[in-house]
Amino acid sequence: MFGFLNFFRAELAMDLGTANTLIYTRDKGIVLNEPSVVALDAHSENFIAVGSEAKEFLGRTPHRIRAIRPMRDGVIADFEVTRQMVSFFIRKIIKGFHLGRPNIVICVPAGITQVEKRAVIEAARQAGVRNVLLIEEPMAAAIGAELPICMPKGSMVVDIGGGTTEVAIISLSAVAYAESVRVAGDAMDQSLQRYFQNEFRLQIGENMAERVKKTIGSAYTLPEPKSMEVSGKDMVTGTPRSVVVTDAHVRLALEEPVRHIVAAGRRALEKTPPELAADIADSGMLLAGGGALLKGLDQLLADVTQLKIVVDADPLTTVVRGTGRAMENRKKLKSVFIN
Ligand code: ADP
Ligand code: MG
Repeated sequence: MFGFLNFFRAELAMDLGTANTLIYTRDKGIVLNEPSVVALDAHSENFIAVGSEAKEFLGRTPHRIRAIRPMRDGVIADFEVTRQMVSFFIRKIIKGFHLGRPNIVICVPAGITQVEKRAVIEAARQAGVRNVLLIEEPMAAAIGAELPICMPKGSMVVDIGGGTTEVAIISLSAVAYAESVRVAGDAMDQSLQRYFQNEFRLQIGENMAERVKKTIGSAYTLPEPKSMEVSGKDMVTGTPRSVVVTDAHVRLALEEPVRHIVAAGRRALEKTPPELAADIADSGMLLAGGGALLKGLDQLLADVTQLKIVVDADPLTTVVRGTGRAMENRKKLKSVFIN
């Protein structure tokens, strides 16, 4: 698909995540890393802000402005906005390229439908891209973590993003088992919001819930207790109020989503054929995606599965680095592309 003249052409790799979008180029590495959030004018539907700026708008907009995450649930919830957001990010990066239109490899969730694939491809084309190749997220994560994907040896990847957790077992450059569950970082934030309502009669915003999760959230008892002050709105009086919560509170609040993620991992292991299971007993489980940063999740998974758990060195960028490597070695890795 990428022809002869492409030697001179700029090449991009994009991780179109439900929480964050990243772009990588051969020369510069990661050149864009922004939340997948858009703020729109509610009447005209014009974009007011995109990325980090738009994320600050979440839960803070007047009626006239809508801040949305068009890929929230792992698939494309809002088609048109996703298309425009993809175009926006690509244009931001390719402004500087002069040697013709660039080629791009885009990483998409494993569960994406044909219609959604076409929407992503069309979005990239509208932004001025020439050729588009797609790769599935768990495959990109495995390549990014430098797992031996081409060998006849099973590797297990669990990628915990914002909207979905993707569990996959990969062997011989193909996905042997894949499951995508719609429980990941966002579900943790929502669980925390519910917990604050039930336990403290306090409403907190989604950005605040995320901050609590990242600061003192854990899946396993911490070596040292942590606490923080959390502010929100009193559900009875409607006035601002704050409470001090501990890591134990937050662990309790996160228990349910964490249990679902662990269960998805166990299910994959149960369904794995014996030869691949033996490989995984040897090589362990790779964790990627921002959810892999939840403190103690690796320890909990190790306890439950009795496997060696490896958290990738920089789990928020594993997928885009893998997508970039797939782009750079696309001849050798041609079987990993899905279109
Ligand atoms: P996606 O691929 O779906 O865009 P990411 O891999 O970028 O998702 O991960 C984003 C998720 O990771 C968010 O839900 C975010 O809150 C969560 N996250 C980021 N850092 C941490 C952390 N230190 N602890 C727990 N969760 C985290
Ligand atoms: Mg991701």
